[in-house]
Amino acid sequence: MPSFDPARITIPCAHFLHGRQVRGHAGLAVKRPADGQAYAELPLADAARVDEAVTSARQAFLHADWARRAPRERARILRRWADLIEADIDYLAALEALGSTRPIDQARAWDVPYTAEGIRFFAEFADKHGGEVAATAHDSLGMQIAEPLGVVGAIAPWNFPLSMTCWKVAPALAAGNTVVLKPSEMTPFTAVRLAELAIEAGMPPGVFNVIQGDGATTGDALCRHPDVAKVTFTGSTVTGRHIMAACAETGPKPVTLELGGKSPQVVFGDIPDIERTAATLAGAITGNAGQVCVAGSRLLIERSLLEPMIERLSNHFETLAPGLTWQAGSRFSPIISETQAGRIESVVARALDAGAELIEGGSRFETVLGGCFYRPTILRVDNSDNPAVKEEIFGPVLSVQAFDSEEEALILAEHEVYGLAAGVHTADIGRALRAVRRLSAGTVWVNRYGRSNDYILPTGGYKRSGIGRDLGRAAFEANLHHKSVLIDLNT
Ligand code: NAD
Repeated sequence: MPSFDPARITIPCAHFLHGRQVRGHAGLAVKRPADGQAYAELPLADAARVDEAVTSARQAFLHADWARRAPRERARILRRWADLIEADIDYLAALEALGSTRPIDQARAWDVPYTAEGIRFFAEFADKHGGEVAATAHDSLGMQIAEPLGVVGAIAPWNFPLSMTCWKVAPALAAGNTVVLKPSEMTPFTAVRLAELAIEAGMPPGVFNVIQGDGATTGDALCRHPDVAKVTFTGSTVTGRHIMAACAETGPKPVTLELGGKSPQVVFGDIPDIERTAATLAGAITGNAGQVCVAGSRLLIERSLLEPMIERLSNHFETLAPGLTWQAGSRFSPIISETQAGRIESVVARALDAGAELIEGGSRFETVLGGCFYRPTILRVDNSDNPAVKEEIFGPVLSVQAFDSEEEALILAEHEVYGLAAGVHTADIGRALRAVRRLSAGTVWVNRYGRSNDYILPTGGYKRSGIGRDLGRAAFEANLHHKSVLIDLNT
């Protein structure tokens, strides 16, 4: 796949309202993570602009023949949208790679196709759900009808801008809602292109609007708007709490919250192929430089495998080097911002102060590229109170703890706050299933780690890792009301 010249990429530096790009007063400087250069100025939506977007979406919901059009027709438009996204891969992947932490090869191989396929997945639900006829007394007929909610507010994070947008927006649209999306202010532009392609696919203006801005002003105004029927959010647990409070104060409105994680990888001594497991573990903490909600960030390993596994992980880590996200062959992602790099450094420093042993990494790469790249890091830890075990780092930092029994492993695996995902690696199916039963996690991977095209499986968190589910039938259903109708047959 060819590299590209960032200077030649047109930036859709705008909101997208009622079917067209809308420029605003330049506000926030947006930087390219790979070289730290400011490349665009983002317009910031104030409360009036948010109101304009929600009103457009509300009008579209009431009058634009989206909620009421034949579901099969809605599905057809969504599928055409997915086709146009795939056809636009050169531009979309370049825009994503330019402005986010996603290397161009990965944006082409995964982010763009995965986004298109996710839209197709939800399009299939549009005409494959219906109401129910309920059992009632013989002289009456009961029915349950599913209806869309209205305007859904969607708030997305920066770590996978395209695919996270798809997770939030596609089920809401397939169910007949209209949507106002606020992308992360750090990765705002691919969403605008998605919205343009939606219009090209035949989606009526106003059905999918994008507003740009920060969380405190734009995001908060979206959550508080009286015509927003529901908010779906992916981001940090702290922000999730703010959003839920705003939705409670101005509603209550339903929320779907996909939040933080601190996911364990439990590796037993009976794994048949240590090289294969090492590659899986390394990928789970270095993919997107660990800036993944389900990053496998806590390795719990049977003591007999501790040293050989650390040696193999080090070998994997040493193959990773900084690269510009727009250069073919770059594999290792930059950290999204200087602030985020500072957060990683702070947790690692506190972990070392609290007694963690530095095995590998522990600092930034020295690079002339201009962006922040943090070395894949291994911290050996004996105490579960260590910050490396307790805190979500959102960087390529792996804590490692040894265990001596299955029971000890499963106790260590349980995190007091988070429950997003877990990995179990063993040749013993009974042991794997015992672990699956015991672990409080929204997703448990056995002898593998990470998502592929498994849209049918819902994703979300136990404990403080979230409320509700993205993907799967559950995500579609969460965008519907169920209306009960009772008809007297004697009249
Ligand atoms: P963040 O919470 O800082 O920001 C996410 C979004 O929320 C941004 O668009 C931001 O502008 C907006 N926001 C911030 N404050 C707001 C407010 N008061 N009201 C409304 N909106 C507000 O998160 P981030 O740094 O972009 O993403 C990283 C976090 O996301 C990590 O904690 C990660 O674990 C989590 N995450 C979870 C999942 C999942 O599926 N559970 C997936 C990806 C990321």
